Amino acid sequence: MTTTRTVLITGCSSGFGEASACLFAKNGWNVIATMRNPTTVCEEYPNILIARLDVQDQTSIKSAVAAGVAHFGRIDVVINNAGYGLSGVFEGTPRARIQDQFEVNVFGVMDVIRETLPHFRQNRAGLYVNVSSGAGVFGLPMISLYNASKFALEGFSESLSYELSALGIGVKIVEPGGVTKTKFGERSGSEFSLTTTPEDYDAFIAGASGIFNGLREASASTASEHVAQVIYRAATDGTDQLRYVATDDIRPFIEKRRGSSEEEYMRFMRERMTPSC
Ligand code: NAP
Repeated sequence: MTTTRTVLITGCSSGFGEASACLFAKNGWNVIATMRNPTTVCEEYPNILIARLDVQDQTSIKSAVAAGVAHFGRIDVVINNAGYGLSGVFEGTPRARIQDQFEVNVFGVMDVIRETLPHFRQNRAGLYVNVSSGAGVFGLPMISLYNASKFALEGFSESLSYELSALGIGVKIVEPGGVTKTKFGERSGSEFSLTTTPEDYDAFIAGASGIFNGLREASASTASEHVAQVIYRAATDGTDQLRYVATDDIRPFIEKRRGSSEEEYMRFMRERMTPSC
């Protein structure tokens, strides 16, 4: 007898989260599709429970997890997908914005994991799939704070995988590159930089924007559904593989980062990422 498995996904209002909710539901999973402002997702599937969850509101995390367990009996997989990418130069970024970036991309993930761990420990089973980014592997100009948050998420996830494997609980990291058809670009939250960034950075910002436009063109054809497939594979392949590179646009950078010397990697990156000012 096969029992239907249940996944809880954060950030299901759009992008990878929404596409993942639909894919898991289509494949027969029970889905706890969580989001800050509840709305419908993939209405054609009856096995989706919509629950309000703001990763910055611990009470909402507790309620969403409790509602999911009450409705479906258990949770087997948690996908920590909610996140956004702060952009702008460091000196022009107010401290409160940096804190917010870490609250959503790092502490929010930790709070969701903290809330679900007792359930996983009790079951002596469970899997976390944490959605990182190519920006969790290599640095890019203009996104130092997003980079910092995703590097933190990667280090946390890798280390956590050791302590949880002893309990029969898995941790995986999915690393997407640029996917322009999500709402990701709309939430960069960089409107403050217009007023708080010294003019000395103007030439750098213009150059870095040109680099990002080039990267965006390289990823224009990738869809959220493709990343959802990789998330689904990470959740279901039954292996102990830790990292999954989800899009081809970042493979050259990741291969250089992981497959060459520091000197060669930095030469490769500086040739491509140093804005001509
Ligand atoms: P998206 O369409 O903007 O989706 C992000 C989701 O996160 C939305 O549902 C958003 O909800 C949610 N979210 C933001 N703050 C939240 C909070 N405090 N609590 C709960 N949910 C919150 O972008 P996406 O591209 O699908 O991004 C999903 C993940 O992939 C993120 O972790 C992102 O860093 C990562 N990623 C994206 C790209 C890319 O190019 N698209 C590349 C690499 C990695 P609201 O609707 O309420 O704002």
